[in-house]
Amino acid sequence: MGMGMIFICFLQEIMQIYITNKTFVYFYSLMLKLNTNDIVNFLSKLTLNRVWNASKMFSSFFLSRVLKRPIVWGFPVSLSVEPTTACNLSCPECPSGLKSFTRPTGTIKLDFFKETIDAVHKELIYLSFYFQGEPFLHKGFLDMVSYASSKGIYTATSTNAHFLTDEVAKKTILSGIDRLIISIDGVTQEIYEQYRVGGQVSKVLDGAKRILKWKKELKSKTPFVVFQFLVVRPNEHQINEVKQLAKEIGADDIWFKTAQIYDFENDPNNLIPTNDAYSRYKKNDEGVTVQKNQLQNHCWKMWHSNVITWDGKVVPCCFDKDAQHVLGNLQQTSMKEIWGNEQYANFRKELMQGRKNIDICSNCSEGLKVWSS
Ligand code: SF4
Repeated sequence: MGMGMIFICFLQEIMQIYITNKTFVYFYSLMLKLNTNDIVNFLSKLTLNRVWNASKMFSSFFLSRVLKRPIVWGFPVSLSVEPTTACNLSCPECPSGLKSFTRPTGTIKLDFFKETIDAVHKELIYLSFYFQGEPFLHKGFLDMVSYASSKGIYTATSTNAHFLTDEVAKKTILSGIDRLIISIDGVTQEIYEQYRVGGQVSKVLDGAKRILKWKKELKSKTPFVVFQFLVVRPNEHQINEVKQLAKEIGADDIWFKTAQIYDFENDPNNLIPTNDAYSRYKKNDEGVTVQKNQLQNHCWKMWHSNVITWDGKVVPCCFDKDAQHVLGNLQQTSMKEIWGNEQYANFRKELMQGRKNIDICSNCSEGLKVWSS
């Protein structure tokens, strides 16, 4: 715990220095959302090795910012793993729901997952079981969570909560998962299904209630259960109602997330909210929709995390949904080699020279606040 507190003080110092810098707005807002139980739980995952690695990673990030060229020390402290590309819903801005991937689709193998975790767990602090697809559709999903938990990693996932039967809800608590984000994008069926096409809000609510029931029955402090409300035009009038609903059901928190719109200039699905506070976009003086993001030439994600697709490809971040920028494959090479390879170095360099020239980086949330309470 002592080492954990030192680590948090270090983070706070850095935040105070850089709080006006937009690179840290997302990170800072994320930290603000942690509740006491969750902070204590997170700190319990820190080991000397992990803190040392994180310190090296932070130092090299700041040095790179100062020198304006990429210098990388340490290894990723955070990873996202894609359990499956399959999804039961058809949300309009999601390639998984729209079945529009050009990359192969499938499901991660348990042995491959375990080998990957074995190789990275000494440095890894945070593991998100989410990229594209619905994690609970993977039959071995909770076994993977248990495995990562047994290595002392903070585990999290995001779900549409359509598969949380009583049995699955109990197993979820027993898996040791630390954070469960439940997407609920409307409080009535009519509004919910406008974005969550093919979904049923009653299933989401029943699933959430089962999770909270088993958490209580098993006297578990985890998971930290968060309702996530993606604010789009059809549901923006339900913000107060969903806050009330989260309270009634007993969720630990509710987070409101702004939506990424691919064709934001035309917004063909009419999703950009009228309430500017919940939008990543704004109208300029000519009435044209533009991004609020100033697209500064740096990226925190490129120093602290990356994403592993179900078949082992390592991609820069969750914005590379179709894996257009593969930096290596864990089926052939280790994460440590990939993290320091030429493709990665070139990607970081290119980003620092002109982020707007990289397709995925020209409409992403890096440097922008995407969550609010
Ligand atoms: S899209 Fe580019 S700038 Fe945005 S988070 Fe990913 S790598 Fe960073």
